[in-house]
This record gives sequence, C-alpha cells and structure tokens, in this order.
Amino acid sequence: MIINSKIPNIKKKLENILIIGSGGRENSLGWAIQKNDVIKKIYLSPGNAGSEKIKKCLRINLDITDKNDLIKKLKSLEIDLVVIGPEIPLAKGLGDFLRKHDFDVFGPNKDGARLEYSKSWAKEFMKNANIPTSNFWKVESYEAAKNIIINSKEPLVVKADGLASGKGVFIPKSKDDCLQATKNIFDGKFGKSGKIVVLEEKIQGPEVSIFALCDGEKYVLLPSAQDHKRLNDNDEGPNTGGMGAYSPTPLVTRNLLLRITEEIIEPTVLELKRKNIDYRGVIYFGLMITNTGPKVIEYNCRFGDPECQTIMPLLDKNFVILLQKCAMGTLSGNEKIKKSNKVSGCVIATSKGYPQEYKTGLPIKIGKINSTYCQIFDSGTSFSKTGQLLTNGGRVLSIVCQDLDFDMVFDKAYKTLKEINFDGIFYRNDIGHQVRKNFPKDN
Ligand code: AMP
Repeated sequence: MIINSKIPNIKKKLENILIIGSGGRENSLGWAIQKNDVIKKIYLSPGNAGSEKIKKCLRINLDITDKNDLIKKLKSLEIDLVVIGPEIPLAKGLGDFLRKHDFDVFGPNKDGARLEYSKSWAKEFMKNANIPTSNFWKVESYEAAKNIIINSKEPLVVKADGLASGKGVFIPKSKDDCLQATKNIFDGKFGKSGKIVVLEEKIQGPEVSIFALCDGEKYVLLPSAQDHKRLNDNDEGPNTGGMGAYSPTPLVTRNLLLRITEEIIEPTVLELKRKNIDYRGVIYFGLMITNTGPKVIEYNCRFGDPECQTIMPLLDKNFVILLQKCAMGTLSGNEKIKKSNKVSGCVIATSKGYPQEYKTGLPIKIGKINSTYCQIFDSGTSFSKTGQLLTNGGRVLSIVCQDLDFDMVFDKAYKTLKEINFDGIFYRNDIGHQVRKNFPKDN
C-alpha cells in the first residue's frame, strides 16, 4: 500500500481538520486555519474553554490511547487533516499510527520527533551533519559526568536527555551547582528522561526561533520570532514555558537568514532525508546568535508556545494549504507564505506561583476589548458548571496584538491586559523590550 504518495498538484478534500492539544498554541492554529473558506469544521481535542469562541472550532474529547476507537471516530467525522500540537503524542508515535490508517498528518513520525525527545540524539545528528552547535558530552553515569565537570575549563550547561516539559535544562552558576544539577537528574528528578545527561559548552548571544514547515524534502519558512523564557522583567527569575514573544525579529536580517538557511536549515532537512526520516511537520530551530555565527541550541518537533500565537496572525489564509501540502509531501518549494505588513507581539498572563505551584479554578473577568488586530488565545482555562471562565493552568491567557510597529503592538497588548483580571494575575511588563523604541515607559 502506498501511503500519502508524493503526487504534486493533487487536490484533496480539505474541509474538516482535527487539532490535537489543549493550549494557546492549538487555539491560535485553529484561528489561523479557519480563515480559509474551504474549511468547514475544526475539531480541537481536548481544546480548552477558549476553543469554541473561535469560528468553526468545536471541542471534542478523543481518547488518543484507544487507537481503534480513535480511527473509527476520525472516519465518522471525515477528518481530512490532523495537526498534532504537542510533543508527547508525537514522541509516542501518534503520527505513525494515523498515517498507517491513511490519514494526512501534520507532525512528524516518532523517528522525526527524536530531534526533540532525545537531546543527545539531536546533538549527534548535528555533529554528523556539521551543523553548528555547542560542544557536548553524552554521559550515562554521575561518575562520568563528574569527571568532565571537574576537568572542564569552560562553564557547562546540564540537560536531561528526554522530554521534561521545558524544565530539564540547568544553567549552573558554579561547578558545585553543576555537579548538583547532574546528580539530581541521575537521582531520578525527571524519571526515565534523565537516564542520560548531556553536558554542553555554555555559549552566549541573543536567541531566535525559526520555524520550517517541512514535507520531508522541501520546506517553507515562517516569520522569525523571539520569545522570553524567564519569569521576570529584565530576563530574571526561573525559566518558564514562555512569558511572551514578538515577530518578526529585526535581528534576523536577510543575510543572517541566508546564513541560517545554508548552515543549519538545509543541512538539517538533508540529514533527516539521509537517515530515511520522512519528516512532515514543523521543525523548530532554537538558535543562539554567537560571535562566531548562529548555533543550534535545540530542535523541537512542534510549534513553540507562545511563538505560534504570535506568528499565526501574520499569515494569510493559505497557511492551512501549506499544512496539507506538508502532510501529503507535495510542497513545490516555491511557496511563499504571505505575511502581513504588520508586526506582532504576545504577552502571557500567568497565575501567581507559576512555573512552580499555582492555584486553578479562579474566576477570570474580561472587560471591553478592542478586538481589531488583537486576539486573546486561551492557554489554560476551563468553565465552571455555571459557565464562568476559570483559570486552569499556569499560563492562562495569551494576549496577541498586531500593528505597524512594536511600540503600538505592546501599547495595545498592555492596555488589553488592564481589562483582564483574575486573582494573582501576573505578567511581564517588558516583553519585546529589544524592539520597543519607547521602552521603558509606564505601562
Ligand atoms: P532548551 O530547553 O534546550 O531550549 O534550553 C532552555 C534555555 O537554556 C535556552 O533557551 C537557553 O537560554 C539556555 N541554554 C540551553 N543550552 C545552552 C547552551 N549550550 N549555552 C547557553 N545557554 C543555553
């Protein structure tokens, strides 16, 4: 049986979409997909309380572990394209399974998801393909790690090999810190994800996010973005899933993008092919722009959150066509994503305590919002029995705005935030500080 054969220009039905996931990322994907008139229904499983306020979007509860039932339901819903949002189902092979049953899927198979779910595999992949990245050591015992840490002349970064919800990376301040972080991982802090540790040379420079929509051979780039991982203003405090982002980033000039394409993107796509990995989904390149050029810090096998919410409003209605082409393996390579002439920014409203413990179930009040070029994508929300909107996560709402410059964008975003309230609401006031001319100013 030939599955998803690569026949260019083949027209397939594209009416009903299923998006797997429950965050702001998935809601923003739904929002961008519904823009195209060919789309009839978008199912989000499980979605959240914000999903059904997006046109054509419906929540549905699918048990993705009950495989036979899943196939039956997708067939009865006449799903034309499945978009898998988060990394865990990808790492568990949901893409492989659905493809075996002839569904078009945007999201790599398990072999491709390895770029994200094994940091040591990704580092070796880069080494083989000569892709610029920091030096590294893959270690399988605390003793081996200790030896490297004690003898290292340079500061090191410590990473658990497997998936750890963005919490498996440590930037130690001293050798003792470094030893302790390594010990914690080997002692089981991240369970199986910490059986292997990657020690990396610490590199420096601004970070940028690049996304390539890939069909296994060809790819299309989305606008670049920068996110803010630290909890507090001035990039202080613990790492989070992301407190805000902006796009495009002026740091990525035409020339830099050319260099990134030549040195990093092309060799990544080629190396995947060389390894017989038919990668149909998005490749996220987390890059650091060092003094000696761009280097890969990490790959993800899915859209970043909140970069996704930030970028989606800049794309035109053909975005979903590109997703389908990637899923079918039929990109021509000449597609250009039509980008808006506007720029976009996102601020995340979080619950007090995040990224550690936080309360859920707190009522959310939203005042009058000017929705022109402003979207609120729910990240972690639910409804009470009486239909009251409640917090249901550490990251609660993504406030995304577009305008002609970043000052106007963040002006709008912070004005919108003034209309939103829940007990313990917390957000950074300096998102986009790198690109706001009038920063700092009174928000
Ligand atoms: P990751 O989850 O791999 O993206 O790492 C989280 C954050 O840790 C990155 O966004 C960087 O700020 C930082 N980081 C990761 N690897 C390195 C490295 N080799 N050198 C310096 N900082 C790093």
